[in-house]
Amino acid sequence: MAAQTLREGGLVAFPTETVYGLGGDATNDLAVARIFEAKGRPRFNPLIAHVADIAAARRLTKWSDRAEAVAQAFWPGPLTLVLPLADAHGLSPLVTAELPSVAVRLPAHPLARALLAAVGRPIAAPSANPSGRISPTTASHVMAGLSGRIAAVLDGGPCSVGVESTILGLTEDQPALLRPGGVPAEVLETLLGQPLRRHAPGEAVSAPGQLASHYAPGARVRLNAHDCAPGEVLLGFGPMECALNLSPKGDLAEAAAALFSALHSLDALNPAGIAIAPIPDVGLGRAINDRLARAAAPR
Ligand code: AMP
Ligand code: MG
Repeated sequence: MAAQTLREGGLVAFPTETVYGLGGDATNDLAVARIFEAKGRPRFNPLIAHVADIAAARRLTKWSDRAEAVAQAFWPGPLTLVLPLADAHGLSPLVTAELPSVAVRLPAHPLARALLAAVGRPIAAPSANPSGRISPTTASHVMAGLSGRIAAVLDGGPCSVGVESTILGLTEDQPALLRPGGVPAEVLETLLGQPLRRHAPGEAVSAPGQLASHYAPGARVRLNAHDCAPGEVLLGFGPMECALNLSPKGDLAEAAAALFSALHSLDALNPAGIAIAPIPDVGLGRAINDRLARAAAPR
């Protein structure tokens, strides 16, 4: 049923291990245009093409030994690879924003994999939320943001990773970290045996995940907080007194999985502000801090 809707050009939101995706047939211009429309994405930024298996990723891209090595190590999983586009890729030019490269990912969530296999085509899927707002990690987050704009949402329960995929650029000699995410950059550097190039301040923005304000709740966000100002609610990490705790035992994977849900539920209280405890800036903590810095950025 969901696969049929996608094959006919409709939009279906579905769970992945990172966040819920807003899926459309990546080979169909109209379906991809509908994704931008449903999200209210202001610009036509390139989207990630989700595939059912490595063979499909090889068909869309100019695959390389390095791509094979990271795919073997981390797929299916929360890692997106940006590679040169194959000559006969069949994708809508809206997916790649007419760039000569494409972002591909093989997700791990069983529902996502079943859907991709049933559709038999690459599925373009940005996060299933209105542009700029908090990413969805449950089906009800998706409905709260996009109800009436999509044909269906598949409910696969809460997402286990909870932050978006790491985006690894493999179009140049030195691999580049285009967005921190579910696979820690340190782990990729160890596998590749070389440091990743990082986004330099002032460099052109190539990913919405690099925009200053993103993932924004309605309430003002204050970081590195140890207590609350009047009207604020405190989102904690590690043992402390607070309205809600990302991980009382201080576990970064647990905190990442809880992050967007916590922001959704605190925002629903309509507080004057959300104060957030410091998160250690290592491993998955870097992906969490990246999202929090954007949630707190001036809008
Ligand atoms: P999202 O769908 O919100 O998880 O974001 C997908 C990310 O992949 C965006 O930040 C895109 O800009 C990025 N992306 C997709 N295609 C490319 C590409 N060809 N080159 C660089 N980044 C890309
Ligand atoms: Mg997003």
